[in-house]
Amino acid sequence: VIEIGQPEHSVVTTCAYCGVGCSFKAEMRGEELVRMVPYKDGKANRGHSCVKGRFAYGYASHSDRILKPMIREKITDPWQEVSWEEALTYTAQKFRQLQADHGRASIGGITSSRCTNEETYLVQKLIRSGFGNNNVDTCARVCHSPTGYGLKTTFGTSAGTQDFDSVEHTDVVIVIGANPTDGHPVFGSRLKKRLRQGAKLIVIDPRRIDLVKTPHVEAAYHLPLMPGTNVAVLTAIAHVIVTEGLADEAFIRERCDWDEFADWAEFVADPKHSPEATALLTNVPADDLRAAARLFATGGNGAIYYGLGVTEHSQGSTTVMAIANLAMATGNIGRKGVGVNPLRGQNNVQGACDMGSFPHELPGYRHVSDADTRAIFEGIWGTKIDDEPGLRIPNMLDAAVEGTFKGIYIQGEDILQSDPDTKHVAAGLAAMECVVVHDLFLNETANYAHVFLPGSTFLEKDGTFTNAERRINRVRKVMTPKNGYADWEVTLNLANAMGCGWTYSHPSEIMDEIAATTPSFSGVNYAMLEERGSIQWPCNEAKPDGSPIMHVDGFVRGKGKFIRTEYVATDERTGPRFPLLLTTGRILSQYNVGAQTRRTANVAWHAEDLLEIHPHDAENRGIRDGDFVKLASRSGETTLRATVTDRVAPGVIYTTFHHPETQANVITTDYSDWATNCPEYKVTAVQVSLSNGQ
Ligand code: SF4
Repeated sequence: VIEIGQPEHSVVTTCAYCGVGCSFKAEMRGEELVRMVPYKDGKANRGHSCVKGRFAYGYASHSDRILKPMIREKITDPWQEVSWEEALTYTAQKFRQLQADHGRASIGGITSSRCTNEETYLVQKLIRSGFGNNNVDTCARVCHSPTGYGLKTTFGTSAGTQDFDSVEHTDVVIVIGANPTDGHPVFGSRLKKRLRQGAKLIVIDPRRIDLVKTPHVEAAYHLPLMPGTNVAVLTAIAHVIVTEGLADEAFIRERCDWDEFADWAEFVADPKHSPEATALLTNVPADDLRAAARLFATGGNGAIYYGLGVTEHSQGSTTVMAIANLAMATGNIGRKGVGVNPLRGQNNVQGACDMGSFPHELPGYRHVSDADTRAIFEGIWGTKIDDEPGLRIPNMLDAAVEGTFKGIYIQGEDILQSDPDTKHVAAGLAAMECVVVHDLFLNETANYAHVFLPGSTFLEKDGTFTNAERRINRVRKVMTPKNGYADWEVTLNLANAMGCGWTYSHPSEIMDEIAATTPSFSGVNYAMLEERGSIQWPCNEAKPDGSPIMHVDGFVRGKGKFIRTEYVATDERTGPRFPLLLTTGRILSQYNVGAQTRRTANVAWHAEDLLEIHPHDAENRGIRDGDFVKLASRSGETTLRATVTDRVAPGVIYTTFHHPETQANVITTDYSDWATNCPEYKVTAVQVSLSNGQ
């Protein structure tokens, strides 16, 4: 029996795990967090939660947390604890010296989707106005950057179109490349409820995810495509819709560019996109492709939900645009129950993107080359902004190896674990002269750091997160930062050590600046958030009550844009040496690379990543359930335990990436999305064999 003390007071705040953005009451006794209680008035969760939000907060007080700043001249030197002032002065001098020696663009930074909007805004501001370049990127680079590109191109803005409530009005749902039960559990429950009420489900996924068949829920169609063939499947569905006259011509004539539609329709109608031709590429039976297409086009309100199984491909942006094409062709945009809904992974990946964390975009998704936009920020910041896009994360690492990029500020991101091609990331970091890691723990990236700045948890700061439905939720400080400063204060102090002269005394003032510079946020302030609880952007003069559903009367870009989406096979090919395709995902109780969940004893139920392999492939290799196996690709190899299951098809294997021992990114390739460089994590040609070592 665990004795839990009685709370003395409670504070409403927002979960810092996934993009659902559940609200909780943090029940406190003094500075001690007694428990997290799902908040019934939370608009994203209505009193529901999953195991992570409810129980996985032990990391906040874990002994692994680093609470004092540290510096070292060389990465082989031991760390030395120093004062905050010394650490920030040292960092500022190093960065300025690097710029003096190697040029203004020789340094940059990475923002975090785990941090608040206000913190992310400050990091990009520091880089643009303090460093004087656009070398800012974010971890969305490795997850939803194709969503940004694809939805901006087709609809005009880089965000999902619906609120979560919308699912209650849907009649037919496509879930593609997402596993809401594990990845977005509270939304997953709402989706299941709607399916139990009779809505029809089409799952497009190489793996038989829980939703395919679970008590009282059974998908009408599961299209178990080979990894890497999303575009072919979606184009075949479009082929059936167009050639069988199922497109919503009235919607298209009113809301989209008809000539572009006609061009697209001619493209998808080509017999090479027929279900029969596509079946040969994808392993999905032609009859199922045809039947699923008919169901989506004729089944009533149709909604599409997707995740990283769409974006983390060499055709990630193309796939997002294929999804947008399908929604427009069937008239499923602009009302309840329909739409295109990216299920964002991290708590604030939407917000990090909104806040201008990309090297080509200022807050509000406005290109840095736009002089009018720059003038708005320059007027308020009092500094000039470069009109040239800066470097993306992979380009920063390339430039470091080449010797032109020398220093980086990384807030809340473990790029050595989370980015592709671990060896290349390590080489890039090792080549830099000043790597500053601002984080809770001495993560893997910190092995290459010269300065470590202790980070703060979501419990120790005020701010806002924006969830997958564009809902801006308040994050409230429930305890004093154990390291002395919230992350926004650290960035503020670093900026001032570099001579920026910033004067914010509370994150609400940063939000006021965001509102003053960013039209989609111009109606947002903390007083309004207190009154309403939360609001969905755009929130401005035209939409003072926010926007639960977007593109209601017209697309943000004017007319919806159809794009030809030609399927191009990935360069990652199977062959005699590497005959299987590896794809990856998450489990409910763990989160990404596990930095938080692995440090919370009560949810660390899965102590290792498992490799799912089909019985046929296992038998051919003499592998039995529970055996340790060697997993090898062209990039590297690792060892993990096998579980033999028909959840995966023959030829496809699957694992999670929560444990550093697995080193999943030693295996993955350096192929990436053609438009955004989002890594192709979901397709790797591999071989599996019994491990001799176990
Ligand atoms: Fe947190 Fe997501 Fe779970 Fe909600 S569903 S409690 S936001 S991890």
